[in-house]
Amino acid sequence: MQPEFLYSLRTIAYIIASATFIIGLKRMGNAKTARNGNLIAAVGMTLAIIASIFIHVNKTPEGYETVETPGFIYTLIFAAIVIGTVIGWLTAKKVQMTKMPELVSMFNGMGGACAALIGLMEFHHNLNNTGALIAIILGLIIGSVSFSGSIIAFLKLNGTMNKPIRLPSYNIINTVVMIGVFAFGAHMIFSGTQSTTLLYLLFASALVYGILFTIPIGGADMPVVISLLNSFTGLAAAFGGFLYDNKVMLTGGILVGSAGTLLTLVMCKAMNRPLSNVIFGAFGGDSAAGGNGPDVKGSIKDMSVADVAVLLNYSKKVVIVPGYGLAVAQAQHIIHELEVLLEERGVEVKYAIHPVAGRMPGHMNVLLAESNVDYGKLVEMDDINPEFEQTDVVLVVGANDVVNPAAKTDPSSPIYGMPILEVDKAKHIIVNKRSMNAGYAGIDNLLFYDPKTSMLFGDAKKVLTEVVAELKTM
Ligand code: NDP
Repeated sequence: MQPEFLYSLRTIAYIIASATFIIGLKRMGNAKTARNGNLIAAVGMTLAIIASIFIHVNKTPEGYETVETPGFIYTLIFAAIVIGTVIGWLTAKKVQMTKMPELVSMFNGMGGACAALIGLMEFHHNLNNTGALIAIILGLIIGSVSFSGSIIAFLKLNGTMNKPIRLPSYNIINTVVMIGVFAFGAHMIFSGTQSTTLLYLLFASALVYGILFTIPIGGADMPVVISLLNSFTGLAAAFGGFLYDNKVMLTGGILVGSAGTLLTLVMCKAMNRPLSNVIFGAFGGDSAAGGNGPDVKGSIKDMSVADVAVLLNYSKKVVIVPGYGLAVAQAQHIIHELEVLLEERGVEVKYAIHPVAGRMPGHMNVLLAESNVDYGKLVEMDDINPEFEQTDVVLVVGANDVVNPAAKTDPSSPIYGMPILEVDKAKHIIVNKRSMNAGYAGIDNLLFYDPKTSMLFGDAKKVLTEVVAELKTM
């Protein structure tokens, strides 16, 4: 086939792939179309990969030239694809819904690592091209930060690293290290150095910065960091696209980078943290340094399944607050059954969705969509908060930090300043969890001691199944 024809064919494949990414992202904005959107984007990505592997034509001032690729390169590429696909497929199939954020974090780290490896491999091939060197060094730095930062995020999410580590004046140290890494990068670009040792030293210092950047973050602030790291990976991939003049890599990288940045801003707003705090390492502020929430005193009230069923049955309006524990218990189907049952009896039921409930952005939306809860019943925090005063019963299922009043009242609390679901304004609050253990931020919750609160102890799925059974007898 003519090289010119092949070149056009690859360009068309890239345009189609880029369009599928955009359509896919758009469809992911709605729970009903998200699965289909993911599939469309995956088809586009497959097309882009096939075109990149098989069509090797360059456009030069003299015309189009086909680049011969030795057979063993194909062997290496396909071996890597097979190994990667098998590992990715098995991991994604086996992962529990509650472990999804860790997986996403790990996959994000792998993307960053790829961008960093591109930088390490390409540096010596582009020593005389400053534009390419800028893309290489920026991709290397940002990819490495994203890689090591995502590994720390992974360890924090799976509980291995459950306490923030804060060096003295960590925000100053972090800022100095960040400036140092970029100054080092500028030296690599403009000094004309060919030193492999310096290149690896830059790689190592960017990895260290990624670690320093992520370890101080604690409390309930991880969601912002995860989406920020995600946008870093997108940006690093976009530099790779620029370097290889690969339009689809560029588009994909820009889309991930901008989607991640938008999500970061939304998360910042939800957590009430300015983005500058995230970037310059003062994230969470000094209030997060040692506060362990209020010195909780008082007694708690326990409620039986039968009493909960009666209270719900005779309510006019019930708001359900789902949290991480709902995902752990896989209680999304039974909660939907409870909602349908109550609605049949004339009780108005809504779900209050906190932007950082669960362990990943949109976790509760995804979980409830799985059990076919009507999307219109899911009400965002800002819209539901004014409704709590007219709510007879709030049923908190496996949520803790997102309803903790310390966020409003205790300046020493790690979550101080985070907007919460103001469930304490409702007439009755029922909290379902297994024990008095803390949530992700590791702090006590005064809500449990509120005279209007009753605790319904037990695994969410088991206890809600009993409540549903009890309701059916009424
Ligand atoms: P929390 O982590 O604050 O609390 C979850 C509660 O669920 C626990 O207190 C636990 O108590 C209870 N629980 C666990 N298993 C069960 C079960 N089987 N049945 C009933 N209850 C159970 O969750 P929230 O959703 O309120 O808050 C999310 C937290 O995670 C926030 O701090 C947020 O910042 C953070 N985070 C969020 C991310 C995101 O993107 N959404 C990402 C990373 C962190 P017990 O053990 O007593 O049962």
